[in-house]
Order: sequence, then structure tokens, then C-alpha cells
Amino acid sequence: MSGFDFNGLTASFDGERVIGPLSFRINEGEHVGLVGKSGAGKSTLIRLLYDRLDSQASLVPQGLGLVNALPVFHNVFMGQLDQHGTWYNTVTLIRPFRRDKDAIRALLTELGIPEKLWIPAAALSGGQRQRVAIARALYRQAPTLLADEPISALDGPMAQQVMTMLTNQFTTSIVALHDVEMALAHCTRIIGIQDGQIALDQPASELTAADISVLY
Ligand code: ADP
Repeated sequence: MSGFDFNGLTASFDGERVIGPLSFRINEGEHVGLVGKSGAGKSTLIRLLYDRLDSQASLVPQGLGLVNALPVFHNVFMGQLDQHGTWYNTVTLIRPFRRDKDAIRALLTELGIPEKLWIPAAALSGGQRQRVAIARALYRQAPTLLADEPISALDGPMAQQVMTMLTNQFTTSIVALHDVEMALAHCTRIIGIQDGQIALDQPASELTAADISVLY
């Protein structure tokens, strides 16, 4: 079975080691919840993994990475920017093609914000911005997702729905989550990070929230 072998992952800031060295394998088909208290190293690890995957995954970064001046449509379309030629992307900037409009409108409808299609990202609320970054990741249609707290600004039912969409669409996912119950409900494997090291690594089905609370 294919998957990813990550070896010798390390990160330091100002000479201080904040991650690793870490080595672990992610099997194809796994949905991994990265948990651990603030400052444990989850965001840094997500960035390291994205680098190791040569940017070939769909990414929802913590800062979301939206272009404020551009409409939601174009922010979502950016998920496929490197899958088209310059001509197609330039035309899209001025006069988007119907198939892209239809596909992005459908995604936004699922995410509850179809009316925002032509609104600049700057005019959106935090939760709406998060949904645009999620739509961009879904639109990219990569088999693997890396996401850093992708549902932190969403209310309960929408958060549940987004986690279901992400685990349904992506074959393999690694998602940093502060909501332990959400990680247990939607992920197949839980990796707990503590001081830049793996302190827990088990199938979600074998864990309870109490087992994970020792990390906090
Ligand atoms: P988490 O995502 O689990 O909250 P982070 O990966 O953001 O953790 O941070 C891990 C450690 O690295 C923390 O001690 C944090 O202060 C430090 N760190 C993260 N980013 C930077 C940065 N740009 N400069 C200096 N230290 C950083």
C-alpha cells in the first residue's frame, strides 16, 4: 500500500529545536488528526509536511492565504492555477469559464455561501474566509490534504459538515485540530504532539477524549 514515509523531520527557530527529529509513516487512506496544546508544534509540522510533499497536497494554512482584493471565485480557482496554462488563467481573471463558475458555485453552495461568489475576500467574516480556503483546497482535487485548524471559526453543524466533506473527498488527510471530540469523530488515527515530539499515536477507535487530555 502506498503512503508517505517522513524521516528526520526537524524545525528550529532562533537555534531552538521546536520539532523533532520525527519519523513516521502515513498510509494511504488514513485520516490523521494532529492534536496537542498550543505551541506544541502542530502548525510547524504541517508546514514541514507540505514542503516534503513538494507542495503536491491541498493545503489549508493557518493564515488561510486568501487574496483580499480578489473575489471569492478567483480565490477558489487558485486551487487549480497550476493545472492550467497561462492563457486559461489570464482569461479566467477577466471572464471566467462557465464550467469553473458552475463548479465553484456548487462548492460554495455546499459550504453555505453561494451568494459570496463575486464578493472580494476582504469583505468576508472569519468563518466565511475559512470556508473559501476550504473550497480552494477541495477545488484543487489533490488526493492528500494538509490542514491547520480548518474549522476553528465554524459553528457546530457547519464544522461537522466540513469535516465530513474533507474526509470524503481526500483519500488521505492530516489535519491539526484543537477540538478533540471532532478529531475522534472524523479521523481514523490520532497523533498527539507534545514539545515537538510524538507523544501519542493510535487509531482513533481505541481512544477516548480522556486519553488525549493528558497532552493538554
Ligand atoms: P502549534 O501549532 O501546536 O500551536 P507552532 O508550530 O505554531 O505550534 O509552534 C511551535 C513552537 O515554535 C512554539 O514554541 C512557537 O513559539 C515556535 N514558533 C512557531 N513559529 C515561529 C516563528 N515564526 N518564530 C519563532 N518561533 C516560532
